[in-house]
Amino acid sequence: MSKKHPIFTEEHEMLRHSLRSFVEKELAPHAEEWEKQGGFPHGRIFKRMGELGFLGLNVPEQYGGSSADFVATIVFTEEMAHAKSGGVGASLGLHTNIALPYLAELGTEEQKQKYLVPGVKGEIIGALGVTEPGAGSDVGSIRTNAAKDGDSYVINGSKIFITNGGIADFVILAAKTDKERGHAGISLFLVDKGTPGFTVSRDLDKLGWRACNTAELAFEDVRVPKSALFGEENQGFYNIMIHFQEERLYMAAGAVCEAEQALELAMEYSRERVQFGRPIAKFQVTRHKIADMATEIEAARQLVYNSIRLHVEKEPCQVEVAMCKLFACEMANRVINQALQIFGGYGYMMEYPIQRLWRDARIGPIGGGTSEIQREIIGRLLLQ
Ligand SMILES: Cc1cc2nc3c(=O)[nH]c(=O)nc-3n(C[C@H](O)[C@H](O)[C@H](O)COP(=O)(O)OP(=O)(O)OC[C@H]3O[C@@H](n4cnc5c(N)ncnc54)[C@H](O)[C@@H]3O)c2cc1C
Repeated sequence: MSKKHPIFTEEHEMLRHSLRSFVEKELAPHAEEWEKQGGFPHGRIFKRMGELGFLGLNVPEQYGGSSADFVATIVFTEEMAHAKSGGVGASLGLHTNIALPYLAELGTEEQKQKYLVPGVKGEIIGALGVTEPGAGSDVGSIRTNAAKDGDSYVINGSKIFITNGGIADFVILAAKTDKERGHAGISLFLVDKGTPGFTVSRDLDKLGWRACNTAELAFEDVRVPKSALFGEENQGFYNIMIHFQEERLYMAAGAVCEAEQALELAMEYSRERVQFGRPIAKFQVTRHKIADMATEIEAARQLVYNSIRLHVEKEPCQVEVAMCKLFACEMANRVINQALQIFGGYGYMMEYPIQRLWRDARIGPIGGGTSEIQREIIGRLLLQ
């Protein structure tokens, strides 16, 4: 199966080639160790990727980026899936595909110089703080509050499950600037690490994405200047929702790659594993499993690529994007689960890579808007 698809140009394939060779040489060989340690040398890796021009692919050249299109960032996501660590890809992806595009789009010139330019170089790392202990799917119910006080805002509240939260130099933080207005009262702020009152409460231990930092953050009377307001006041929710669309496409594209890797591992194993005198690949039940897995992957891939095409062509595609996030992430769990089954007891052992894919894939139907929320979006839009 090939990724050849009309959305990819020659330039995209060249980018894919150089990313693949970097990932295979500089990330994948260390992934197992980083997974065990529960972290990777983020400072060095971010800087190295910045030097190689892999960060800020779709950031304008004037800020150090490559001025490439959205599809280039999908290529980045697909190639990170070869790092043998979902966590490394998640950490890098959150920074380059989520934090940096937010900055390029919403930042003032001063904010772009302060965060975007060094962010593209990999000198500083970003995080996005939306989810709270009491507010996950229901973003409008966040309680972190930013009260205006003269020339500053004073922020109080907490955030949970924040990717890069414990290693980030800055957080794009969602807070209420108007408590009475629900989601229409949310604004975004750029909050620097080290600002008095801003602390990392704890690093969270996780089932998957082991090598990436995920943290709980606390904000206690954190005073930030007015210039820390990011985008227009009370427009935060809408800005988050616009970017959620892209986050969903990244998650869907990544899920297809993970499923594909699981299929490859399962096919290879089924040819080698002999039971009852023949390779298990010779049993029709195994062949049919493989056929179903490959078919599901291909169906998801076409759905994802078509949604990307619609998104790039600026066609309305909220339904398609929700469908591909829902289908691709659930498909990856089904397919990887079947792949693990083909490994039998070996699949349950930590020394076989299939278990890592199985654990990493589980975030798919949860993060970036759960499967249930995707179904709500699809149903609501179809029935309106
Ligand atoms: C590893 C990891 C990394 C993350 N990274 C970030 C990050 O960088 N920044 C950030 O802000 N957040 C991040 N998140 C948070 C993630 O976006 C949320 O976990 C997700 O949005 C779901 O919120 P919740 O966990 O509070 O679940 P809840 O919203 O409490 O949902 C619990 C269950 O109820 C269901 N449910 C909720 N509402 C409805 C409804 N209306 N209809 C039907 N079912 C419903 C859900 O689908 C789910 O099954 C991360 C999470 C994880 C696990």
